[in-house]
Amino acid sequence: MTPELASSLFETIPMPIILIGADQTIVAMNQPAERLVGGHMRGRHYITALRQPNLLDKIERTIETGEAQHARYLGREAERETIYQVQISSCPLGAVLAFTDKTADEDIGQIRRDFVANVSHELRTPLTALSGFIETLRGPAKSDPIAQDRFLTIMDHEAGRMTRLVDDLLSLSRVEAEGRVRPKEPVVLSNVLSETISNLEPLLDQAGATLDINDQSNGAAVVGDTNQLRQVVNNLIENAAKYGKRDGTIHITITPPTHEPQLRADGIRLVVRDEGQGIAPHHLARLTERFYRVDSHRSREVGGTGLGLAIVKHIINRHRSRLQIDSVEGEGAVFSVILPVFAGKDALKDSLS
Ligand code: ADP
Repeated sequence: MTPELASSLFETIPMPIILIGADQTIVAMNQPAERLVGGHMRGRHYITALRQPNLLDKIERTIETGEAQHARYLGREAERETIYQVQISSCPLGAVLAFTDKTADEDIGQIRRDFVANVSHELRTPLTALSGFIETLRGPAKSDPIAQDRFLTIMDHEAGRMTRLVDDLLSLSRVEAEGRVRPKEPVVLSNVLSETISNLEPLLDQAGATLDINDQSNGAAVVGDTNQLRQVVNNLIENAAKYGKRDGTIHITITPPTHEPQLRADGIRLVVRDEGQGIAPHHLARLTERFYRVDSHRSREVGGTGLGLAIVKHIINRHRSRLQIDSVEGEGAVFSVILPVFAGKDALKDSLS
């Protein structure tokens, strides 16, 4: 095969490919490879183009022994750092380098590692507190019933925190597992709202919150999964109670079905607005990340796990719906969920086909 033929063949391959000739110069490369290591490299020694020692060693070995090798290559494309796995194979003309982009895999690995580190950190804090109190109960507070009572209350609180965390982690993994299956059932949002509110009564009382409900949906149904939508409504109202104004009002609106451009279909909005401190604009985009908190101290104080909105976001994605968060600092926060209207069995069949 001539270098010209190799070049034209390489142009049909989407991944970066480089052919190094017997004289150790670059004989052919395709455009993705030019974007990765720079243009005008043909005819130059491969060391000039590929300056990473680990890769250079492996190429040398393939050229010497004819054995295939693997190496990593760190690239920088369009201001983004990329990671490639390079397969180096011997061929009659010299050596062929094929680059596979592994950036996404590495990102997922990093997200997993961060997640495990976060979970461990979240569990360690209450565990450390519990061990400390056990020691105190065995030692200094051994015969002090008043202190014992106080410590047991705190221990109960810390155990509750761990239970909530584990419950939220399980919810998150359940929602993730079902992520690709689209829910199909008709769900009447008014019913979901009233059931959720009755479960939240103790929390609402504790926060001194009054509800102002404006339900204009007239019993219309959305397409959804009842339990998951209960969780969405629960988490949003719970947050409004936790972060809203003490003894304030939580305004909940369910709109009538109207065309929603964001869904490109008819939708119903459920809007939860509180009168609290609100959220600064630079936090808004990150609120649905796992363990992201605007004020960690406040979140822990009110029993937050940092997972509530991550769960909401996953459920909303599964429902092919939208979550919109608006806030003017000092004037409260507005969380809107836009869900597709259930338009009867026939219409549903059409929309799913
Ligand atoms: P948490 O368990 O900490 O409440 P969430 O995922 O539910 O976790 O919320 C993430 C963060 O978003 C909270 O820690 C809080 O800082 C902020 N937040 C959520 N809802 C509101 C709200 N209604 N008003 C102000 N801040 C809020």
